[in-house]
Amino acid sequence: MIPLSEALQRTLDGVRPLASHEVACHHAAGLVLARDVVATEHVPPFANTAVDGFAVHSADVQTVPAVLRVIGTCAAGDSREWSVARGEALRIMTGAPMPAGADAVVMVEDCEQSGDSVRVGRSVASGSAVRPVADDVRAGDVVFAAGTVLTAAGAGVLSSINARNVAVFPRARVALLSTGDELVTDGSILRRGQIRESNLTMLEILLAKNECEVQNLGVVADDEAVLERTLLEAARANDAIVTSGGVSMGDFDVVKAVLSRIADMQWMQMAIKPAKPFAFGLLAVDGRRVPVFGLPGNPVSSLISFELLARPALRKMMGHTRHLSRPLVRAVVDSPLRRKPDGKTHYMRVFGEFAGDGRLHVRDTGPQGSHQLAASAAANGLAVVPDGAGVAAGGEVDVMLIG
Ligand code: AMP
Ligand code: MG
Repeated sequence: MIPLSEALQRTLDGVRPLASHEVACHHAAGLVLARDVVATEHVPPFANTAVDGFAVHSADVQTVPAVLRVIGTCAAGDSREWSVARGEALRIMTGAPMPAGADAVVMVEDCEQSGDSVRVGRSVASGSAVRPVADDVRAGDVVFAAGTVLTAAGAGVLSSINARNVAVFPRARVALLSTGDELVTDGSILRRGQIRESNLTMLEILLAKNECEVQNLGVVADDEAVLERTLLEAARANDAIVTSGGVSMGDFDVVKAVLSRIADMQWMQMAIKPAKPFAFGLLAVDGRRVPVFGLPGNPVSSLISFELLARPALRKMMGHTRHLSRPLVRAVVDSPLRRKPDGKTHYMRVFGEFAGDGRLHVRDTGPQGSHQLAASAAANGLAVVPDGAGVAAGGEVDVMLIG
């Protein structure tokens, strides 16, 4: 058995970032920018008012109340060239361009208009409620450095500077398949020995949440020829393959049999529980080497090995350099996390909440067997419980936040 850290290192060493490409900025959120983005326009492009009110010469309202002559109304989008002289005011709406002459805006709440005169009740300083040109972004600024993960707000910024396309690391195209002749996906009545498939559903969602584009190939029969054909086709059309099941020591572990033959694989046994077996390798097709992640079939093991190994590697492929693995938070244990010494680190499924003391408090979510997905589904964290007898209530543990 090897420690998780070594399995993770071997896996990460086997993958490389995908070639970057240009996408429309509204498709880029969640992706990693491959190049610095330099603004070619100012935001805002012109000085404008931050409030609805009256544009004035601040010098005219140093003594209040002050009565000024209203020369007109200017809405956002108004393209007329307004000019305000001393003793005048322009009624103006949020976002409208500042008229020539005026250097401040008095909020409408501080004004009383009657006909074409306005009584200003509050004095304002020069520049008050004016948003200067380029107050947000200046042309020539690097708005986002290469390596930044673009957020929704970030995509909005790209729109604001008219960066219609942006260079990103692409979403990894991931083929997903499960093996197991016992698995039923079509809703039919279970015959003796059959169970319903769950990993494909779970993994497809996890992949999509991690910005991958999933090709779900469904359940492939435990038949070596069929599996070999499916894997080769999947490798041709995708950047990576995730398989579920068939990577342990059983007689019908066809994934192991086939991949051992056609790919350059590492069959790892990690000193962790659950998810002891994990396979990683490269499948060569058409001059490319496509990473293959072989997850165990037990649903909880599948979930955990995805989180601990496949996800960080897929993130590296999608250009991430930071936070490949999820962060660990030191938490307070509210209910005992019991385990027996077995030479392994246990990743116990816990539910955590930040309490009044500002700390994360966790309790286990129930049965911890690797087939018991229901209890794991209630977890938002994995408590990293080192070898030994567990952690008593009131003790502390590192928790990986997974939800
Ligand atoms: P395996 O890794 O193929 O030896 O499977 C280990 C256990 O997980 C067996 O009990 C399988 O029936 C179960 N299993 C395998 N694949 C799935 C799946 N896709 N959905 C639910 N259970 C599965
Ligand atoms: Mg199987």
